[in-house]
Order: sequence, then structure tokens, then C-alpha cells
Amino acid sequence: MSIQSNLNTIKATLPEHVTLVAVSKTKPVSDLMQAYEAGQRIFGENKIQEMTEKWEQMPKDIQWHMIGHVQSNKVKFMAPYVTLIHGVDSLKLLQEINKQALKNNRIIDCLLQIYIAEEESKFGLDENELNELLTSPEFKELKNIRILGLMGMATFTEDQNQIKKEFTHLKSIFDSIKDLQTENCSLNTISMGMSGDYQLAIECGSTMVRIGSSIFGGR
Ligand SMILES: *Cc1c(COP(=O)(O)O)cnc(C)c1O
Repeated sequence: MSIQSNLNTIKATLPEHVTLVAVSKTKPVSDLMQAYEAGQRIFGENKIQEMTEKWEQMPKDIQWHMIGHVQSNKVKFMAPYVTLIHGVDSLKLLQEINKQALKNNRIIDCLLQIYIAEEESKFGLDENELNELLTSPEFKELKNIRILGLMGMATFTEDQNQIKKEFTHLKSIFDSIKDLQTENCSLNTISMGMSGDYQLAIECGSTMVRIGSSIFGGR
């Protein structure tokens, strides 16, 4: 199957309100260009250096999403161009993003990553930490970031009930904060679902799916 036909097959199954992030990590620019030529404009990467190299080489109407874990000292490299940072999991990181956004005279959109899996290796805030962050005075001062919603990754398992439970949990956390009225929040996005579980994620309320291998093949 070609990248173009993979993309078209997936897009045909996505409801209108769901945004597709084509996860292109480890793939060469020539593969990304095939997706671009098929109409895809949103790409997700998990390493800042790789994303920046691709951004430099590719058309400038692409929206680049950082979906990986972000180290504070690397934020400056993507601050000029990144469209959405999915994996924000601390006030400290948010403060660094705010600082770099200010330097670039822009506002950077972010998602807060929530820990929903039963795996030690995954990153994210729990519900208490999320509420603490959103209600802290330091957070309210950040004028150059905007929180669009939440991101989560389910446990890597075949157990559909387990995955469903985790996605439903993320949706319920989102529902509990979505009426928050803060200038730097505009909550409308739940980023959950990958190649193996995006249909289930959409059933559970996802509005943004991050799909890699089903488009570009295995890594
Ligand atoms: C790699 C990755 C994906 C895409 O995974 P696939 O199984 O290839 O669709 C989605 N989200 C994150 C955070 C990733 O690192």
C-alpha cells in the first residue's frame, strides 16, 4: 500500500471533528512529501532536532506538532515555528515555553499530558497535579502560551477494555476542566489514539489522533 492510499483510507474513516496528525518520526523527508502531496499538512515528530531539520527542508504551510517528551533546554529550537506541543507535563516546562514564545513574539499552543496508563515509563500529570497547575498564580501569569486541551497515551496492551477505561478517564478529566475561564486556556482538544487504538479513542471522545505506522509503515 502506498502512503497516499493509507492516508486516504484513514481519512475516510475519521469524523469531521477529528484532526489527523501524521506521525512521521524516523521517516525520510521523501515519505513526508508523499503525504504532503496527498494533502496532509499536519505532521507529528518526537525529537526536536529531527523535526527542525524536516521543517527547514519542507514547505512552510506545514503545521509541526511536537508529540514527544520535551526537555526544557530544547524548547528554543522549535519555538520559532512549532504549531502545537502535545507533551507538556510541568509548570516549569510551560514557563520555559512561555519565555521562548515571548522571545519569538508569538503565542505557542500546548496540550497538557495526563498520565492515564498503567506503565511506569509513560509521562504525564495526574488529576491533582493538573488542577494544581491550572489554578496556580504562576500559571495565570503566562501570557505567551495557550492550553488547547489534554493529551494521553493508553497502556500498550491488547486488552481493549483496559484501553477504553483509560481513554474514558482522560475524557472525564477533560470534561471536569473544560469550562475553566482563564485567558490562556481555550479548551477544545483531546489528543488520544494511535494506529492501534484510534477508532476506540474516537468512540471515547478523542478530537485529535496521532497516527504513524498505519500511514508510513512500521519503524
Ligand atoms: C510514535 C507515536 C505515535 C504514533 O504511533 P503509531 O503506533 O505508529 O501510530 C503517537 N503518539 C506518540 C506520542 C508517539 O510517540
